[in-house]
Amino acid sequence: MGTIYQAKCPCGFKQIDLLQGYGIKQRDISYELYQCEECHMLVNYELSQQADSLFKPVHCPECKAGLIRLADNLEQHPYPCPECKQLTLTLTSVGLWD
Ligand SMILES: [Zn+2]
Ligand SMILES: [Zn+2]
Repeated sequence: MGTIYQAKCPCGFKQIDLLQGYGIKQRDISYELYQCEECHMLVNYELSQQADSLFKPVHCPECKAGLIRLADNLEQHPYPCPECKQLTLTLTSVGLWD
């Protein structure tokens, strides 16, 4: 079962429906969260287990910088905000998806 996260910053920035993990009905598809190391945009990648998708370039769609994969303990520490660039963006799990 996958987790749905919501990202929120005191500056007003908010992003909902960030998915991580596997669904029940679509076992061969998983979602992972990445963050751009330059503009801090959050990117949700869908990974299928077909080999070719493993070679998908992990670059920011905005600025083409490298993406950092967000670790599993998403709620443990704050992240840099794409909007105000402060280290005040927090992720909260808001539910499960399948
Ligand atoms: Zn970027
Ligand atoms: Zn912010």
